[in-house]
Amino acid sequence: MQNSIQIGRLFGIPIQLHFTFLLVIPLFTWLIGSQIGISLSFIFELFGEFNPALILAYPYLFGFLVTIGLFLGVLVHELAHSLVALRKGVRIYSITLLILGGVSSIEERIPDPRVELPMALAGPLTSLALGILCWIVVAAGVAFLPPTPLAGALFYTVGYLAVLNLMLFAFNLLPAFPMDGGRVLRAWLAKKMPLRRATKIAADVGKAFAILFALFGVLAFNPILIIIAFFIYIGAGQESTVLRYQILLKDLTVGQVMNSPVMTVPPDLPLPRLIELMYTTKHLGFPVVDRGAIVGMVALADVQKSTPVDREALLVKDVMTREVITLPPEAPLIDAFRLMSGRQIGHIPVVENGEIRGIVTRTDIVRVMELQEI
Ligand code: ZN
Repeated sequence: MQNSIQIGRLFGIPIQLHFTFLLVIPLFTWLIGSQIGISLSFIFELFGEFNPALILAYPYLFGFLVTIGLFLGVLVHELAHSLVALRKGVRIYSITLLILGGVSSIEERIPDPRVELPMALAGPLTSLALGILCWIVVAAGVAFLPPTPLAGALFYTVGYLAVLNLMLFAFNLLPAFPMDGGRVLRAWLAKKMPLRRATKIAADVGKAFAILFALFGVLAFNPILIIIAFFIYIGAGQESTVLRYQILLKDLTVGQVMNSPVMTVPPDLPLPRLIELMYTTKHLGFPVVDRGAIVGMVALADVQKSTPVDREALLVKDVMTREVITLPPEAPLIDAFRLMSGRQIGHIPVVENGEIRGIVTRTDIVRVMELQEI
């Protein structure tokens, strides 16, 4: 993921910290430290009273310890997803910790409920187990250990983590994408119906939850709920769109869809001539070829960056994009689609053995999807 630093590897999986995570550590430390009295009386209520001297003396130190403990809990949760995925033969690229928890970057493939169900359940169940374990430690400690300040500090930190891990468990089991519960629901539905219908239903349930969250957030003046609602709504929509593309473009290669032969332009073609060519051919992007080799791509967007007056004097090589992304004919079409969406480009030249074979455009892909849907 972009804007992340790698801090190490666990089980061969790179572990990364997103910059939002680094912002959230001082924020959580401050939130917990400044409200230490409230959390302390809540934990007293759950487990019985213990010696709070050390905690009240260093509230921000314990705010920091609880924050670190929370993110260790998130990391273990994500690792649980990843380890089940690895055992099922799915590739894991990385785990990133960021503002609202963790994200595992998992190989994209059409979901199989037999893989997705255990993978999605592994995270929340691990959080549940961690929560129960912390709970037992504190309950036993309060009952059997002498009430020293040090023991009190341990009970507060671990008791807080018991509550947080149980919240992670419950929150992630909400039946809404991008939460684990959305995947559990989809996998369960997919055993009874086609995957696309299962995804559609799961996404609709997610959207309904998002709307409920937002309403509740507005009524309770709770901005965090509104932000969460927003993420759920977007996540639900994305999940069904991505799946639709994956299914429609399955088994197709770039070579099957590309336009060939492809019209190219030389680097020293004047821009007015290029614009004329766009008018006559109705093509809005051309590979720029110099002595048989691709040296750039020029598209309408590149022309638009110059003013109409400048255009009279400019050549193709002055405005073209020099870093050309190309694909071989045998590349899956979904790769072309991902590259276009990720980098905001509309044309990808298809190159084999250094020679240009054709060009694939976003319009071509959209047309193929429409045809696949009949
Ligand atoms: Zn999870």
